[in-house]
Amino acid sequence: METSAKPHFVLVPWIGSISHIVPMTDIGCLLASHGASVAIITTPANAPLVQSRVDRVTPRGAVIGVTTIPFPTAEAGLPDGCERLDLVRSPAMVPSFFKANKKFGEAVAQYCRREDAPRRPSCIIAGMCNTWTLPVARDLGVPCYIFHGFGAFALLCIDHLYRQGRHEAIASAEELVDISVLQQFECKILGRQLPPHFLPSTSMGGGLMQEVRDFDVAVDGVVVNSFDELEHGSAALLAAASGRKVLAVGPVSLCCAPSLDPQGDDARRCMAWLDGKEANSVVYVSFGSAGSLPPAQLIQLGMALVSCRWPVMWVIRGADSLPDDVNAWLGENTDPDGVADGKCLVVRGWAPQVAILAHPAVGGFMTHCGWGSTLESVAAGVPMLTWPLFAEQFVNEKLIVDVLAIGVSVGVTKPTENVLTASKLGSGEAKAEVGAERVEKALERLMDGAGEGEDIRRRAAELKRKANAALEKGGSSYNNLENLIDSCA
Ligand code: UDP
Repeated sequence: METSAKPHFVLVPWIGSISHIVPMTDIGCLLASHGASVAIITTPANAPLVQSRVDRVTPRGAVIGVTTIPFPTAEAGLPDGCERLDLVRSPAMVPSFFKANKKFGEAVAQYCRREDAPRRPSCIIAGMCNTWTLPVARDLGVPCYIFHGFGAFALLCIDHLYRQGRHEAIASAEELVDISVLQQFECKILGRQLPPHFLPSTSMGGGLMQEVRDFDVAVDGVVVNSFDELEHGSAALLAAASGRKVLAVGPVSLCCAPSLDPQGDDARRCMAWLDGKEANSVVYVSFGSAGSLPPAQLIQLGMALVSCRWPVMWVIRGADSLPDDVNAWLGENTDPDGVADGKCLVVRGWAPQVAILAHPAVGGFMTHCGWGSTLESVAAGVPMLTWPLFAEQFVNEKLIVDVLAIGVSVGVTKPTENVLTASKLGSGEAKAEVGAERVEKALERLMDGAGEGEDIRRRAAELKRKANAALEKGGSSYNNLENLIDSCA
């Protein structure tokens, strides 16, 4: 079929977080590689990130463009360039960010409805908070899909909890809530570990999650960064429960291999450090694009990392605002710039995570269980040490540890506050929940080459094979992408 005869997808990633922008851009690249034409709409500050991925992953001949629409920061009282939630400095600014996103939505809607547009959209795929795309899609008479950034298992759990009315009566923090959505697996989590939809109102405001839920049930389908072989039929169960298409098209991080070589000095330094280490020997530690631990917890974790038997690459976010004593401790105990080729390399900037996980030296990933990181780890066949912080991460931990058995839990029971969930930032006195000894024990279980660790590694390797197969011609994600394109033709 001619490219021009294929449908035109308009993708509007939720700009709250890099972890939404990156996979949606990758979905755009995958659609383009299947011959669809794609326009990704974003804001000026986020455009370079989107454009750089599009430039590097797009196969020759693919039709994909990036459109920039201003984000009304000044109007909303936000600092110039504050176009992502990780750039928001206080919980008080969070409502202004969402207000600006609504205004941004009006401009996006106007753009999509333009009569003189080179191509009318055949389908809109919207990030979860971009609820304003639905009326546009309805006006244009085209399907609207949602992308949550969550996995299918978490989405199924959330749907299940809504159907149980869990959003109407907030669970107590200590209550064990049943999230057994898969027949063979009993799953329960504490009330305080539930996704934000079922927690008391936070700095995001109570109405937002309901708005997202209303949007979610009204759209024509859900696009998920996952693959059908991974989540024990969760996507199909969600489709059956909700009566919408649920299409797993990932792992989308694989769309860029091998062209996404790490760029920049810091990234190259990470890779060079790994080059000097033995296969499967390194523990990679990262808590995502926004996660950071309170100082007391950071020190307990650090003590375990510097004394364990394995080399460690430790990414620390928010490193600029660490207290002096923590900085001093890091300076004395870790290798802050990699020059000493020490045992524990601290990365204070942005680590090239996908490339790191794919490096043969990496044998374990201590992760906050964000879905992007989880799936990147699965795609690379790297076993996980789970340390959930907030959002749907405690649910993802259940999938990793109890359902897939490709990880070991550190044993965190309390969520960690962030800018969206906190009443105040940087509660420096927060006590460490997890002591160094517990972290070391979990590391031993995961990294030990025999027994439990070996079984976990074998299962992770098997899932890596399935993840890669899913995107190949005739694989489940490949077919779901074709299905998505055909349904919009
Ligand atoms: N990431 C990265 N380098 C970093 C930190 C994060 O490349 O130093 C990427 C990571 O590869 C993943 C995303 O940021 O794609 C984090 O997404 P995830 O869903 O795991 O967590 P979130 O940031 O939403 O908490």
